[in-house]
Amino acid sequence: MTASSRYRIAVAGAGLLGRLLAWQLLRDGHAVTLYDAGDLDTPPAAAWAAAGMVAPLAETVVGERCVYAMGRVALERWPQWLTELAAPQLWHQQGSLVVAHPQDENELTQFRRDLDDAIGEPGGYRALDAAGVQALEPGLTGFRQGLFLAAEAHLDNRELLGRLLAAIRELGGECHAHAPVEARPGEIETDAGRRAFDLVLDCRGHGARPRHPTLRGVRGETLHVHTDEVALSRPVRLMHPRYQLYVVPKPGGRFVIGATSIESEDRSPISLQSSLELASALTTLSPAFAEARILEQGVNLRPAFRDNLPHVTREDGLIGANGLFRHGYLLAPAVVDHVLAEIRGEGQRPFAAVLSAAAPQESLS
Ligand SMILES: Cc1cc2nc3c(=O)[nH]c(=O)nc-3n(C[C@H](O)[C@H](O)[C@H](O)COP(=O)(O)OP(=O)(O)OC[C@H]3O[C@@H](n4cnc5c(N)ncnc54)[C@H](O)[C@@H]3O)c2cc1C
Repeated sequence: MTASSRYRIAVAGAGLLGRLLAWQLLRDGHAVTLYDAGDLDTPPAAAWAAAGMVAPLAETVVGERCVYAMGRVALERWPQWLTELAAPQLWHQQGSLVVAHPQDENELTQFRRDLDDAIGEPGGYRALDAAGVQALEPGLTGFRQGLFLAAEAHLDNRELLGRLLAAIRELGGECHAHAPVEARPGEIETDAGRRAFDLVLDCRGHGARPRHPTLRGVRGETLHVHTDEVALSRPVRLMHPRYQLYVVPKPGGRFVIGATSIESEDRSPISLQSSLELASALTTLSPAFAEARILEQGVNLRPAFRDNLPHVTREDGLIGANGLFRHGYLLAPAVVDHVLAEIRGEGQRPFAAVLSAAAPQESLS
């Protein structure tokens, strides 16, 4: 494909990758048709359930080194994209804070060691004492130590998804809700029949499993609460021997508390145990959370390949992008750059060594 051609492109899946790619391709002048199995305003996507953290340092502790490199792209690209969407206020780069209760401080020490090992050099964070924690987040009490990861960010992901949809519609994108599809080379199949396209992009997240036997879903449960009693300026992670919790502030006094990570494709409602653990850990961050109102209990599946890395697959007339696992907002800019370079026929494809590599196959034994 060349940069000057105008193509009829179908995007299957209006989650994070699907919306970003549809928006960019419309801006490139292509005719884009977007399909989602669910509602477009409150999509059943992992992207809707997510907390929206863009945390290259903290995520590298649990991920691969390339996650850090791709995450640095995200820190540049998101503010630029949000400005282009006339929504720069959805981007918050006030860093993130990692804390542990006094009895669990060895967890914080271990996190710091893991961070040094993952990044390959000490730095990227500032060690805080009790006064330092209080100065950053006066709403937190009883913490003697913390780590401040100054470069990290978060975004208002649900508002972002709404902005992307509005931009896609303004640019003339054709959008179909409640339209589960099969994505095939040069063709989309719906209940209504088949439709030909020059190119199909498969961005169905866990819904693409029939095409990718090695793709799995990793269950994540969250609580959404509202309170005016606590104010946080940035995501806070609580290190704990049994579970790790994060709290991410959202507009209007809302907080997302998450998330469990369970090797299960069960989408049924949150378990009582998970709900209790998230809620009780939250109140240990600040007792003022005790009166918060529970707005929502979320469950969704993070799409992951066996190596927990994203992969872009290419056949004639079909590109699949998937496997963003727990780092979708962190990795999407690098994945989108890569797919766009492929469609534009650019020689240089960012992160080709990782993204174009075949996803590891299921062992036959
Ligand atoms: C609880 C939780 C918290 C998270 N927190 C973060 C975070 O803080 N930071 C971060 O970077 N990442 C986070 N993630 C991960 C992130 O949400 C995902 O990696 C990302 O959303 C994956 O993007 P995607 O576009 O591939 O899939 P999705 O966002 O899941 O979108 C896939 C879309 O495809 C649609 N679809 C499925 N099947 C079909 C079909 N047959 N036909 C048409 N449409 C179909 C679905 O309805 C969905 O809308 C979190 C995930 C979870 C579950």
